[in-house]
Amino acid sequence: MATNIFNCPLPDNKGYFGEYGGSFIPPELQTIMDEIASSYEDIRKDPDFLNELADLYQHYVGRPSPIFHAKHLSQKYGAAIYMKREDLNHTGAHKINHCLSEALLAKKMGKKKLIAETGAGQHGVALATAAALVGLECEIHMGEVDIEKEYPNVVRMHILGAKVVPATHGRKTLKEAVDSAFGAYLADPVTQFFAIGSVVGPHPFPKMVRDFQSIVGVEAREQFQQMAGKLPDNLIACVGGGSNALGLFTAFMNDEDVNMYVVEPAGRNLDVIGEHAATMTKGTPGVMHVFKSYMLQDKEGEPAEVYSIASGLDYPSVGTQHAYLKDLGRVNYASISDDEAIDAFFELSREEGIIPAIESAHAVAYALKLAKEPNVGTILINLSGRGDKDIDFVVEHYGKEYGIES
Ligand SMILES: *Cc1c(COP(=O)(O)O)cnc(C)c1O
Repeated sequence: MATNIFNCPLPDNKGYFGEYGGSFIPPELQTIMDEIASSYEDIRKDPDFLNELADLYQHYVGRPSPIFHAKHLSQKYGAAIYMKREDLNHTGAHKINHCLSEALLAKKMGKKKLIAETGAGQHGVALATAAALVGLECEIHMGEVDIEKEYPNVVRMHILGAKVVPATHGRKTLKEAVDSAFGAYLADPVTQFFAIGSVVGPHPFPKMVRDFQSIVGVEAREQFQQMAGKLPDNLIACVGGGSNALGLFTAFMNDEDVNMYVVEPAGRNLDVIGEHAATMTKGTPGVMHVFKSYMLQDKEGEPAEVYSIASGLDYPSVGTQHAYLKDLGRVNYASISDDEAIDAFFELSREEGIIPAIESAHAVAYALKLAKEPNVGTILINLSGRGDKDIDFVVEHYGKEYGIES
């Protein structure tokens, strides 16, 4: 079943998509990355691995996730709107797809421990889940500020048996967590596996994570054809690092009539640096976190401060393949503000009975905009996650506006 998700020609064997990608790391670490790349090349053709993964996707994650035709929104906004329900996966988002795959790979390589950073805790919880299942230790680094803010996810990680290490320096958020996790990883890169959470980082991660997520589009292409009798005219996904977007898009890449849109967070103000995280719309090419892509830079060329109401989207760079696809013109880039995302969060909840993650609500918001244009045809949204994690925040900050008495 899962064999055809692994056949995209790019990147080249050094991890380049055109001029983007690569791995700007010290030689000793390069050796380790080369080992991961070569193990990956082996396992992606190994029927045992593919069967094991297919079995877990089906019986553990709950795949295939359904496609839902949102009839009320379709009627209200004027185009046929469908959603790929990644929010229904075990742990509530698409991240389990690649976390499980990375855990299996690490296990096959004889690694003992998975290590990663997390911002809001979503990647940490998905990875701790995969580690528990596969039987590996798990250590998650998280900024002290985020630990306080996202406490329920910290509790989940503890229950799942993971160790949560607070990053206590600087602003004590995601960037510091990356530093902290990377430092811990460097202390022993032989028995530990750094499980990157999106299509970013050094080669082979952008390729590997994309391939592991591609199951989303493989399923969707077939399901949609069965439901609607043809391919969708438009695909829409939100982008932080870009894994759920490439997960949906990859199977459609050669279908020239299928338009693709990725939606970046415009935050509070697209014209002020530090108030958004629209890397494609406002960024420029550069090297950050050891790979070349588009990035938001400050005056010194350092990663700029970024902001979004969706903590899964506030990243100052973007997956290397997205940079390539942007220059190629294959994918369209749009942005959605905090307020528009919250509006879509309530629209989807109240019209269809689905509470989306605020990240996914960005994709929904853009779909509702697009739907109002003439002759857009059908729209398929990747609903990357569910909104349980966001409800307290949304009600506290926006409840009154949307008629909720506290
Ligand atoms: C983490 C996350 C994202 C952003 O990550 P990508 O790699 O861009 O997909 C989007 N949606 C949800 C629900 C997430 O948890």
